[in-house]
Amino acid sequence: MADVDGATAAPRPDPDPDDVSWIEPPTCPRCGALVRVYPTNYDRWVSLATVELPAKDVPEAFRWRLTPLPTRSRIAADIVAVRVRGVDPLPSEPVVPAHRMMCVPDRDGT
Ligand SMILES: [Zn+2]
Repeated sequence: MADVDGATAAPRPDPDPDDVSWIEPPTCPRCGALVRVYPTNYDRWVSLATVELPAKDVPEAFRWRLTPLPTRSRIAADIVAVRVRGVDPLPSEPVVPAHRMMCVPDRDGT
């Protein structure tokens, strides 16, 4: 399921309280764009776009939503990414597109 969703991002490093450099925003290794990396609700990680878009502009396969972590979860994060599936969101409802939807790899040198 995770591979189909594109939830193949590498986990974030554990935050080190003594190391402030990791706060640097993550970037996509393929195109260099800023991304947000979130854990999913099934122990995988996914790169999401830094902006929300209306659901009508995002193909169903790329729709994600950020939700507060359920209490007592074993994932050490405040927010998890959950695929929007099942219920169709309203066309104007904001969703978070997977970065993969807008990823344009830099093909220089290949
Ligand atoms: Zn990219």
